[in-house]
Amino acid sequence: MRKPVIVGNWKMNKTPSQAKELLNAIKEKELDSEVEAGVCVPAIDLTLASEILEGTNIKFGGQNMYFEEEGAFTGEISPLMLNDIKANYVILGHSERRDIFGECDKLINKKVLSAFAHDLTPILCCGESLEEREANKQEEKVKSQITADLKDVSEDLVEKMIIAYEPIWAIGTGKTASADDAEAMCAYIRNLVADLYTKETAEKVRIQYGGSVKPANVKELMAKENIDGALVGGASLKADDFAALVNHRK
Ligand code: PEP
Repeated sequence: MRKPVIVGNWKMNKTPSQAKELLNAIKEKELDSEVEAGVCVPAIDLTLASEILEGTNIKFGGQNMYFEEEGAFTGEISPLMLNDIKANYVILGHSERRDIFGECDKLINKKVLSAFAHDLTPILCCGESLEEREANKQEEKVKSQITADLKDVSEDLVEKMIIAYEPIWAIGTGKTASADDAEAMCAYIRNLVADLYTKETAEKVRIQYGGSVKPANVKELMAKENIDGALVGGASLKADDFAALVNHRK
């Protein structure tokens, strides 16, 4: 069935020397091989992740990329760069990219298509703001994001991707959506994928919850039928906590 997947999003944390320490500490941990584990690190730490994690089961990836392969795009990294260091994932459409850096669905869609064209697994983030949640518009918001972000993505590709439902009000705030609310939205997203594609495809897509996931709440979240994993910010910055998240079934 769907393999559980726990991915750390380090965001803009860990200088290369700190990253080296954390990557080595994570590498030392005994991790449940039945759970896919990965880290998405700052661009400057990607080569280190590639070197240090080589030969382990721990996957890694970027937190963003541009859709073009190369050229005059100052400050960006490309899918070819991620390919060259054998990255597995790329996070796309994180709410911080959308809100702070003004990324729109049209751009995110180009990035999703480019990730697939370069054999990278997109971790596509979606989720509503507090205002939208209070107005009961979470489904509407997520539907418009996913429909736009997956435009022209074929069925054979979509089943390989990861979708991360991350309510913005729960990211880095310590407020977790209740396991029932998170499950309701992940189930909604699966039904949406079934509507856009087929039920079979929807059954294969892995859907993560993200928003203040920590060792204390991971079990309850992961017990839900439609929650296949977690995208984790803060708690992924400590090797012990990251290992506890990956080993939530033990
Ligand atoms: C995230 O960065 O995607 C995230 C969910 O962060 P946190 O776990 O810190 O809320």
